[in-house]
Amino acid sequence: MSKLDSFLANAIQSHQKQLSSHLGDRTLYVGASDIAGCPRKAALGKQVPANHDIKTLLRFTRGHVAQSMYAEFFRTGGVNFEEEVEVRHPECPEILCHIDFLFYANRENKRLHVVEMKSTSGIPEEPYSSWVDQLHVQMGLLKLNLADDVEIGGSVLVVDLNAGEYREFNSYKPNALVFDHLIQKGEHILAAMRGECEAKTEASFLCGYCQFRTGCSAHPIGSTAVLPLEIHQAGKAYLELNAQKKTIESQLNVLKDDLLSYTGGVFKSITDEFSIVATTVGESVTVDSKKLKASFPDIYAQVTKPKAGFVKLEIKPLAE
Ligand code: SF4
Repeated sequence: MSKLDSFLANAIQSHQKQLSSHLGDRTLYVGASDIAGCPRKAALGKQVPANHDIKTLLRFTRGHVAQSMYAEFFRTGGVNFEEEVEVRHPECPEILCHIDFLFYANRENKRLHVVEMKSTSGIPEEPYSSWVDQLHVQMGLLKLNLADDVEIGGSVLVVDLNAGEYREFNSYKPNALVFDHLIQKGEHILAAMRGECEAKTEASFLCGYCQFRTGCSAHPIGSTAVLPLEIHQAGKAYLELNAQKKTIESQLNVLKDDLLSYTGGVFKSITDEFSIVATTVGESVTVDSKKLKASFPDIYAQVTKPKAGFVKLEIKPLAE
């Protein structure tokens, strides 16, 4: 590790601690994001707090950067809001939330709007159910703490800093049924983190980031796992898009052949809408690595280098 690497490893860790200091000791309470996720992950995370790797810490920092950027925009626009508003359950204070942005619509504060901000790489077509659950916990806790005539709304603001895009999923309202269910889940996490019961599992896309995946009953090794609904839907969507990709690729090949039969091997032209260039790439040779290895193993060892592995994903329709 270079000097800069070890310096940054410490600095990024300390910086993250500073940025999240307003959240207090997260091992002592159940927050809205805990409730929105997997109970087992939340409970174990309280019992054995994770040491996040640099990649995860940088992702957290990206979230803070996005939030402060949008706070500046809101300030510049002159809207009335507060950031990181802590709201506790009146009867169970160990259940609480921190609202990213709380907007006040008028002077009497009879209309409030909760915004949960998410910084992502790529914006999904629909908000993830965990984002919406988190928002419901926030709106519900706020409602418990305010007079009945205060109108509460909420939205999830998703920002992709790399792509320079954002999208708001809006028009959410507090829902007593959903909120009660989520609070029961919060109480279950509290009991599990105190060792009073075994935490339930709730598998999702986020399992890939879970440090407690080893030994998790939702991921039995070597058996046919039942997929959570959102993963099943993602698999189906992947299959459908892949089929479209194959159709598009074969259409592209037909058009390419037509165009090449007009242009020949060397051609250049420009229209008012596009340019078109055809070039001929000359013949060349490639190394047959199997032959090289078999016939000249010493040379093969000298001219090869390790290549990082990767995860291969294969989704195929079952035969009808
Ligand atoms: S692997 Fe998935 S289901 Fe298992 S504890 Fe982690 S988040 Fe929960």
